[in-house]
Amino acid sequence: MSEENATKPMHFIRQIIAKDIANGLPPNEVHTRFPPEPNGCLHIGHAKAFCLDFGMALENGGKCNLRFDDTNPDKEETRFVDAIRQDVRWLGFDWDDREFYASDYFEKLYNFAEELILAGKAYICTLSAEEFKEYRGVPGQPGKASPHRDRPIEESLDIFRRMRAGEFEEGAYVLRAKIDMSSPNLHMRDPAIYRIKKAEHHRTGDKWCIYPMYDFAHCLSDALEGITHSICTLEFEVHRELYDWFIDNTSIMNTLKVHPRQYEFARLNLSYTMMSKRKLQQLVAENVVDGWDDPRMPTLAGMRRRGYTPKAIKDFCETIGVTKFNSLTELALLEHCLRQDLNKVAKRAMAVFDPLEVEIENWQEGVVDELEAINNPEDESAGKRVVPFTKRIYIERSDFMENPPKKFFRLTPDNEVRLRYAYFMRCKEIVKDANGNIVKLICTIDPASRGGNSPDGRKVKGTIHWVSAEKSLKATAMLYSTLFTREDMSVLPEGADFKDFLNPESLVKKEIFIEPSLKEAKAGEPLQFERIAYFMADSKLSSPDNLVFNRTVELKDSYGSKK
Ligand code: ATP
Ligand code: MG
Repeated sequence: MSEENATKPMHFIRQIIAKDIANGLPPNEVHTRFPPEPNGCLHIGHAKAFCLDFGMALENGGKCNLRFDDTNPDKEETRFVDAIRQDVRWLGFDWDDREFYASDYFEKLYNFAEELILAGKAYICTLSAEEFKEYRGVPGQPGKASPHRDRPIEESLDIFRRMRAGEFEEGAYVLRAKIDMSSPNLHMRDPAIYRIKKAEHHRTGDKWCIYPMYDFAHCLSDALEGITHSICTLEFEVHRELYDWFIDNTSIMNTLKVHPRQYEFARLNLSYTMMSKRKLQQLVAENVVDGWDDPRMPTLAGMRRRGYTPKAIKDFCETIGVTKFNSLTELALLEHCLRQDLNKVAKRAMAVFDPLEVEIENWQEGVVDELEAINNPEDESAGKRVVPFTKRIYIERSDFMENPPKKFFRLTPDNEVRLRYAYFMRCKEIVKDANGNIVKLICTIDPASRGGNSPDGRKVKGTIHWVSAEKSLKATAMLYSTLFTREDMSVLPEGADFKDFLNPESLVKKEIFIEPSLKEAKAGEPLQFERIAYFMADSKLSSPDNLVFNRTVELKDSYGSKK
């Protein structure tokens, strides 16, 4: 193990692999896979899974395959294959030429099924779905054998071949493994392995009208690819016995160097976040959100559009670790990882969200002072930019108080304040409308304090941001909050629908004023609007003539107070 790996937490999957290596498995033969079903976009839970799959292979010099688990032709689409590839690459992982599809193995899987029939280990059954369930029974009591369990081998083989040839309607027959109807594990009670489905497949078209069940396809695909550690989520733990049975009872067994082994870990549940692909799909279909990449979605596409960085997501996945216990991870932790990275990489800029006009009395109309501003105090290489100062500027309404409480160090009728990168400024006069609302301030600046530096050692306590009223640009800020108001979306109260918990304020749009350097702001370039929040230009909606910024995350955690 490299030095860097030695500092990573020793979770149980790392321990298992380390032990296998200690027992003689060459580290570079550690072989994992990430097996998404291309029926939707990947979410942050999938990121946890594939950071682990790719991570375990990488840190040992082994390999990780990308395998599309496309055994259900009804729901799978090529556009999701493309989206998944893009998302895995975005987090920096590479599968070289090892992009596989369960559908590549349909012929081989079919042959394994025939092998089972010939060995008397599979039979054709005509029980209906309800009967199938009824015969299977319940844990604690043995199930009942199907009346077709002892169908002669030749007959099963003949029907299976004719199923493939398309002679029968959907539901007429299924091929079942003949295992053990009294097993305490219901999955071992003669599970279905092939069903008739007359559906177009996104890759094999209409070549097949029978499709293997997930449990059959998954383990044999692992075996065909020489996977050593098949890592998946806890719900598959009860399938492991069957996983091993299929491998042990087909000829693939004779070719294996290492018997693939399945290891299960707890899936990621994140507070205020819904992680089921089926439900996310529903939100998209019903236009509750603006597509799979809506910046409020927990999808990687949505997070990318919102301004998340790959590093933040990877750090988060490493930080949460891997356990065997289901739990709820706080969104605040993900956002903490995000802020850590954004603080280093985001360029700073000034934007005013709730403008109060300030007229500088001792500044000449039409004169523009080009002031220098630092792009990122955390990163000198980010350089500097110019911000224009003019006679009229905007400051945040909340940065001025006529009758301030003690310890209000921003602008007041008495306090001098520093305008960031510009001048020291004092308020001379408050202009009000007929109702007594403040509409404008008349101020003066100290020309000797250019750049925001004290000319004579006098101190100001507050620094506020501003933009030029004449030179600033208008933009739209998309202020996102969580899509759901309920903390634990993985368990809902009885009778409740997940949509009952949609947050009506998950998106608030706001007109804002931004400094002109942001005219060319682009998606992919994280920004911090100083003293406000992190933002990024929206990849779909923003253009130089219609600037739209997504709020990526606030500067400080606010979930603590929301609970
Ligand atoms: P969903 O429950 O969101 O519909 P899925 O399991 O149906 O997801 P797959 O495409 O089959 O989606 O998932 C690919 C891999 O990602 C599987 O190995 C699965 O165990 C893992 N995975 C899915 N959701 C999570 C999660 N929330 N946390 C960790 N791993 C996950
Ligand atoms: Mg799945």
